Amino acid sequence: MTGPHTFQAALAALGLPPEWRVEVAIRPRRRTTGIQVKAGGRVAVLIPPAAEPEQVARFVGSRRRWITEKVRTAAALAPNHAVKEFTDDEEFVLLGRRCRLQLVDAPPAERGGCPEITSDGALRVRRQRPELVRRAVIGLYQQVGLAWLRREGRKYEVDGHITGLNYVVRDLGRRRWGIYEGRPKHTTTLHWAAFGLPMRLVEYVLVHEQAHATQPGGPAHGREWQRRMNLWMPDWQQRQTELTEIGRHAWLGDWKRTSSSTDRP
Ligand SMILES: [Zn+2]
Repeated sequence: MTGPHTFQAALAALGLPPEWRVEVAIRPRRRTTGIQVKAGGRVAVLIPPAAEPEQVARFVGSRRRWITEKVRTAAALAPNHAVKEFTDDEEFVLLGRRCRLQLVDAPPAERGGCPEITSDGALRVRRQRPELVRRAVIGLYQQVGLAWLRREGRKYEVDGHITGLNYVVRDLGRRRWGIYEGRPKHTTTLHWAAFGLPMRLVEYVLVHEQAHATQPGGPAHGREWQRRMNLWMPDWQQRQTELTEIGRHAWLGDWKRTSSSTDRP
């Protein structure tokens, strides 16, 4: 049997673009060579044990155009999340409203708590290390988001005969916007970052979880759940598609140091 490095050498001779990051895998059960373009644009060549390196290289070479196209699509669909710097005047979106970050040195007592959103749309946070500004901003998303969630979730509780439902806003990582956990937790949780999405998508995330909270029969996203979604949000599939696209660029808490913030004594 030929080892993976022999195939790698044969493929290297083709001079493929380095950004394809081609990797080879011997697949004992395969009878023909296959090519897979994975999320993010990695190219996997799946090789049956009996294949000859030259034969595999010829095959991959003949598929150049197809791979180019697939890699381009995969790269276009890869997550590309917003990165914040926490500098003065930086824009944030919270519950559909654009806010400008305003770093204040020592908030006078009459200004009320900090962080806060002022009536003229400033997101006011005490000037401090960026990781602490970040924490304060996320805390504000959580607080404002939870108040919205409790208020807006209510009508679905009433309409869907949901009783004793709990609400949580927290970090749900990079793949989920919301979850519903069944009894005894019986909790609808939204990602704090969801509140930075356009309002129609925040609503979609809420309705999606509230539909689960009605505990419909059948599979999680089966016919019963869909029936509820159609009732509450007739264009939910459209919004789901929008979320896939817009969600790739959403701010999930990422930040980068700028010289002005790292040089601060
Ligand atoms: Zn779901």
